[in-house]
Amino acid sequence: MKAHEAAQLYFNRAADLMDLSDNMRRLLSIPKREVQVQIPVELDNGEIATFVGYRVQHDDARGPMKGGLRYHPAVDLDEIRALASLMTWKTAVVNIPYGGAKGGIAIDPRKHSVREMELITRKFVDQIHDLIGPDTDIPAPDMGTGAQEMAWFLNQYEKYHGYSPACVTGKPVELHGAEGREEATGRGVGILAFKLMSRLGRKPANTRVALQGFGNVGSYCAAFLAEADFKIVALSDLSGAYFRPDGIDVSAALRHARHNRGSLEGFSGTEKLTNAELLELDVELLIPAALGGVITAENAPRIKAPIIIEAANAPTTPDADALLHDRGAVILPDILANAGGVTVSYFEWAQNRQHYNWGLSRVRQELDKALSDGFERVWDMSNQRKVSLRTAAYFIGIGRVGRATVLGGIR
Ligand code: NAD
Repeated sequence: MKAHEAAQLYFNRAADLMDLSDNMRRLLSIPKREVQVQIPVELDNGEIATFVGYRVQHDDARGPMKGGLRYHPAVDLDEIRALASLMTWKTAVVNIPYGGAKGGIAIDPRKHSVREMELITRKFVDQIHDLIGPDTDIPAPDMGTGAQEMAWFLNQYEKYHGYSPACVTGKPVELHGAEGREEATGRGVGILAFKLMSRLGRKPANTRVALQGFGNVGSYCAAFLAEADFKIVALSDLSGAYFRPDGIDVSAALRHARHNRGSLEGFSGTEKLTNAELLELDVELLIPAALGGVITAENAPRIKAPIIIEAANAPTTPDADALLHDRGAVILPDILANAGGVTVSYFEWAQNRQHYNWGLSRVRQELDKALSDGFERVWDMSNQRKVSLRTAAYFIGIGRVGRATVLGGIR
């Protein structure tokens, strides 16, 4: 199943239970704007290479559109369209004044030099700078991008529009970035894991965790959970999975990755597994924090974890979601679980517009509050309406966006 079809299925499942009219469904489903651009560059070896970039702006009823920029070979319009719609529901679930968007370039950044990646990023900005901006659509990091790409993005955007630090978030702290943004998504997953476990009556020390993905989200999440006394038994990245039933020394894994260009390759003292095997480990908590579509109807019957927290976007296909739900598994959905990133992006944007630095402790405090409020609302809705946490989150997201759309008027 393609990514957008899966996203629509989740939307429609909730819309059916909300008795949402066909007209409103159509309005909330069709993106406001979709752009595909050509990015030709001269590579270091003198050859010309042409890449394809996308920006999908899904909905702006609640404010400027917001969403990450993904650099990955599997990026296509369908995937970006799906991720843009998730951003609309996500910003609404945590009640920050944004709509949803997403962008990306179909490219494997590991195969290109720093100079080539800078050139590609700048050329992409050349193509889309008129369509984005601090009051319109604000990009941020996602898979394959980080603070450096955001710095290039800002610099190129400012060549056209002058000083505009709020045109992109996830920037380096030295260049109008917010303290606490880099850690925010992983930390947010950790905060929510803590809340969910306490609602389910489980203690961190008795919770074995398998975590897929050790990039921005996975590494900060692992650090937070280890600090909070969870027992991380498996970690993974593109190089494979690393398993130790007695618990992995997360600080050692972080050190190893730091000295190894971010990779866990060669991390010792653990049993090597595949990423597919990691998903099926006998653990209490499974956290996919890498790609989408990794939990499917094929492997769902073998997944033993009773609790899944979706740190990645769209890691569970709708048929797998139904199978796991019927079996009693609890899934904290992506549109709440990884909302810490966009929440602190909002704080960064707010600080840029105030020309005032909040400092790390205020950022962390406000993140905790925003996620706690979002969690409590979703939890209560799920209990009141007797639906999954995912459907409850969609009820809240669709409800808020729908009301804003109607109140604003469509004439
Ligand atoms: P990243 O590029 O920093 O890290 C990705 C990690 O996944 C790396 O460890 C990589 O080795 C691993 N990986 C890639 N392909 C894999 C595969 N086939 N099997 C196993 N591991 C694989 O990306 P990130 O920013 O950490 O994003 C991870 C997920 O979290 C994505 O789904 C992204 O959309 C989502 N997300 C990120 C943010 C953010 O602020 N960065 C916010 C919300 C959601």
